[in-house]
Amino acid sequence: MTLFYPGIAGKRPGKPTFVIIHNDAGSINACASYYRSWLPNHEAELGFAHVYIAKDGKYQADDFDNIAWHSGNSFANEWALSWEVCQSMGASDAEFEAVEEAVFQDVAAAMKRYGLTPNRETVRLHKEYSATDCPHRSWALHGSAINAVQDYFIAGIKKYMGIENPIQPNQPTKENSKMIYIFNVVDANGKPTGGTMLFDGIRCIAFAGKNGKLALDHYSGTYKQITGKDIPTQSKTQAQFDLWGKMYKVEYINFN
Ligand SMILES: [Zn+2]
Repeated sequence: MTLFYPGIAGKRPGKPTFVIIHNDAGSINACASYYRSWLPNHEAELGFAHVYIAKDGKYQADDFDNIAWHSGNSFANEWALSWEVCQSMGASDAEFEAVEEAVFQDVAAAMKRYGLTPNRETVRLHKEYSATDCPHRSWALHGSAINAVQDYFIAGIKKYMGIENPIQPNQPTKENSKMIYIFNVVDANGKPTGGTMLFDGIRCIAFAGKNGKLALDHYSGTYKQITGKDIPTQSKTQAQFDLWGKMYKVEYINFN
């Protein structure tokens, strides 16, 4: 066991090929300045990311051309750049999402620098590489599914790279309206675990961002105008939703 210092994991074998955005599972007080003094007194083998971002700014723990031990997987450690969205246990939703935005901005700059385009191959989740809840808070807030959370991150990064997100929900018509409904993913006690989603007859769409609820209300209003009925609502268990997500694409639309 060795205390952390920059470069401890050695040089990356080549240009980074993707990014992983983590949630630190730290308290409201675990800010960038906290990690700056804590990490060098911490055994490196227990894990570290390249960048820590919190409400007080950014701590770049290691150079992007060095390997970081952040994913519990040697391939991802060697080829992925890594960020921690800090304060993921204590912050309010709004505070946490503000830190996420700062991370997206920093990821966008790094992806530009290395010529990477944000998509489902280049923006990955920790839980794809090892058994972990990470990114637990982003997961709960942005759809509780791999693709939905990836799409949230991708849309967030694209915004800071000046790339438009072209996804539009399928508009209700008299013909397709029987396929369309709104749903929540719920736990064993029937308690919602993520945001509200729309099944638009083609795919599941998470209406996220600060105007997400407004946009979904607008969609529901259009549905009622066209069909004369309220848009149906239902609940899915996580297992049902996982299965559903294999048959129908899960998309995230950022209504900021
Ligand atoms: Zn992680």
